[in-house]
Amino acid sequence: MTQAAIIDGKAFAARLRETIAAEVAGLKAEHGLTPGLAVVLVGEDPASQVYVRSKGEQTLEAGMHSETHRLPAETSQAELLALVERLNSDPAVHGVLVQFPVPDHISQAAVVAAISPDKDVDGLTVANAGRLASGLPALTPCTPTGCMMLLRDQLGDLSGKRAVVVGRSNLMGKPMAQLLLAADCTVTIAHSRTKDLPAVVREADIVVAAVGRPQMVKADWVKPGAVVIDVGINRIPKDDGKTRLVGDVAFDEVKDVASAITPVPGGVGPMTIACLLANTVLAAKRLNGIGE
Ligand code: NDP
Repeated sequence: MTQAAIIDGKAFAARLRETIAAEVAGLKAEHGLTPGLAVVLVGEDPASQVYVRSKGEQTLEAGMHSETHRLPAETSQAELLALVERLNSDPAVHGVLVQFPVPDHISQAAVVAAISPDKDVDGLTVANAGRLASGLPALTPCTPTGCMMLLRDQLGDLSGKRAVVVGRSNLMGKPMAQLLLAADCTVTIAHSRTKDLPAVVREADIVVAAVGRPQMVKADWVKPGAVVIDVGINRIPKDDGKTRLVGDVAFDEVKDVASAITPVPGGVGPMTIACLLANTVLAAKRLNGIGE
């Protein structure tokens, strides 16, 4: 029985943050440019508070300008859109991120539409989704971008690989599929209506699971030697009444079939904020006409 290589996203993300910090230092020294990220949080969702705090801390650690706007849950949509407008035109801010979910009385689509595509470091605007789909330079969503980095590090050239992405959200599944297609993979997108999902997944050299169903992808779904990227973050109860994090892949059994696999936690998760920082630097350079 083979044992898969465990893809260490935590270590990869730490190296990426070091590279970004060095690039930021260079931009400051050569161009007097400090990339800046503004994060907006509406309400008191506990998980969002943790994410937003980490984003702020890691932005500062990279030597970048960080601002966090914490608004009360009763903030109106008009007030939120006015803040986004202000950040769109603030020259110290190169990335604007509104932490989702927003309270129910605010339209997520309206918020995304208000963000300047040039500062859309989450890659969620229609303009950036369209650019990605058209093969034009885009800001691409952070988690799929991080998955691509891990895949390239593991496999090198992805050309010709059969890739199956399970999940078709705008944040994860669809951009993941576009990025794999742009890397010359043959891509299938599976979802809740897919017939015989195990058979579809078994065709893949690369499996990306972005579903939100704990440990759904089993060992007998996976072709021996496939590379498995587990995006899922699910909290499940333990015997002692506490909880633990698991992915969308049954890690303990799939690791005996795959050639490489990301663990949860410590796989894809840490890549997301690192790629957010990378996107902010990219946006800062593009907004200031500095070559990539
Ligand atoms: P969504 O809920 O938006 O999308 C889930 C997708 O999975 C949908 O396309 C849905 O299909 C599909 N799906 C649901 N059930 C099944 C099933 N039984 N069989 C096949 N497909 C199914 O989730 P996200 O894309 O936002 O996130 C997916 C997971 O990734 C979550 O666990 C989330 O927490 C995690 N995540 C992790 C991040 C990180 O930083 N590591 C970042 C973003 C997400 P349909 O469209 O037909 O309903």
